[in-house]
Amino acid sequence: MQAIEKILPELTNPKQIVITMHQKPDGDAMGSSLGLGNFLQSLGHTVQVIAPTNWPKFLDWLPGASDVWDYERKKEDSQKCIDAADWIFCLDFNVMSRTKLMTEPLTEAKAVKILIDHHQEPDVAAFSYGVSDVAKSSTAEMVYDFIEAAGYVDKITKEIAECIYTGILTDTGSFRHPGASARVHSIVSKLMESGLDHTVVHQAVFDNGTETRLKFVGNALVNRMEVFYEYNTALIAIPAADLVKFSINAGDTEGLVNYPLSIEGIKLAAIIIDRGELIKCSFRSKGAIDVNIFARKYFNGGGHKNAAGGQSTDSFEETVARFKAAIKENKDQLSTYKF
Ligand code: 5GP
Ligand code: MN
Repeated sequence: MQAIEKILPELTNPKQIVITMHQKPDGDAMGSSLGLGNFLQSLGHTVQVIAPTNWPKFLDWLPGASDVWDYERKKEDSQKCIDAADWIFCLDFNVMSRTKLMTEPLTEAKAVKILIDHHQEPDVAAFSYGVSDVAKSSTAEMVYDFIEAAGYVDKITKEIAECIYTGILTDTGSFRHPGASARVHSIVSKLMESGLDHTVVHQAVFDNGTETRLKFVGNALVNRMEVFYEYNTALIAIPAADLVKFSINAGDTEGLVNYPLSIEGIKLAAIIIDRGELIKCSFRSKGAIDVNIFARKYFNGGGHKNAAGGQSTDSFEETVARFKAAIKENKDQLSTYKF
């Protein structure tokens, strides 16, 4: 993988561009992709953003989201677009397999593939150009870096600013994680100069839920949470029946994993959700507890030091049992860790 700066001189020649991201895209995956997409369109490129799967409804307001294709619903058109692409930007993922059914089409594609990502251990051989930096708060921050390096900060519109801000906002946990550096705050200041109204974005992202979703959260905290004080750990385990009972859609479970971290002393929070075809796990931690390693070791996943995910094809009960065994195995680190 060569440095992304090498493609900058080519930006003045109109190209067919596909932008894609990890499956079940979150605020950063969608925000960074749409920020980059809107920017490249303004330079005269033909851009199609393709998400490997559907995305949560709370991201539908993002400028350009209504033109994003869901690969699972538009396979043939997506394949044609991938075949015709000069460039394919791959955002917010480190290995092709994070794009689910797009893994093969992307791997086989003849287009120049360009990575912009902040996850650990990228498969650099899969990309011609790119930038991968785990120190970055978000891929959206890196899209800003890219626009700046290209010399086009003055091309950042209110819409582009909203997309980039959404990625930064969601991936930094509203500016609380260590990744929310001085640089991040100075970027936000520039975005505000471009017309960003941060209050509007916060409301669009956080204040657009349903009554049933809030009751689902209440039920999860009252009935589905177990706290293991001896391990400084808490687990929320959601059976499939809860998802039906509260009409839970993609994205409705987003953020739930963070709640247990508000309990004094809790350093590791986990959520295990029975999605039927798959058991989805999410992990969040504080300080030195590394959930990227934990997710890789026990749940076929990965992510970042303090935020990671994984999955299991075992039963829900077996997966919960595996988690409990895993925290026992790590008792020394979990129980002795102090701030
Ligand atoms: P979440 O828990 O919100 O799904 O994901 C937290 C972080 O871990 C995100 O950066 C996400 O990209 C990463 N992540 C989530 N699930 C997986 C997975 O199955 N494999 C890998 N490698 N990373 C994951
Ligand atoms: Mn991200």
